[in-house]
Amino acid sequence: MIKNIIISLCFLLLSSCAGAPKQMINLPHSKYSWQIQSDSDVPSTERVSQAVILFYRQWQARFGDRRGEVKKNLYELMIEWSSEEKVFEGVGRDNKGRVVKKGVVNGMTVGPTYVWLRTNPYKRVFASSLIHELVHVALWADGCRGGDPDHEGNMHVCWTPEHTNFIDHLNKLLFKFDI
Ligand SMILES: [Zn+2]
Repeated sequence: MIKNIIISLCFLLLSSCAGAPKQMINLPHSKYSWQIQSDSDVPSTERVSQAVILFYRQWQARFGDRRGEVKKNLYELMIEWSSEEKVFEGVGRDNKGRVVKKGVVNGMTVGPTYVWLRTNPYKRVFASSLIHELVHVALWADGCRGGDPDHEGNMHVCWTPEHTNFIDHLNKLLFKFDI
């Protein structure tokens, strides 16, 4: 009930914003998961859901999910696609945990179930940073503060080289299946 009210409010808010009209479309893997899009350079909702399902199966097999928290968050996901460049300023970390003060990002995990992604002309998930962001989502669900924003750095110790390999492996799999 509360979820439905929140979804309706989000939708009203989005539809009242100026600029290209934004649409909020349900992702078929869960009635509580949505993607927000305003242009056509976006992977289909079927592809996005297939990627999420594949991600979860592989994650569970490799890292486990005893309490079901990872699954819960992946099934209450909000993915916002945008063609606009997002310039990041402040203290961020690259994959190896090195400090980055300013840069352009292709994706960002904004909250435990909220992911922002830059669109790409291929309209495929493997060409986006969704899988990378889902690792943040999964770590966040696992109790890792902020989903481990410094990646392999040693500020937070959740993200390991195995997670980086996992992303490569999964994106190759998505490429193979044209997802
Ligand atoms: Zn990241």
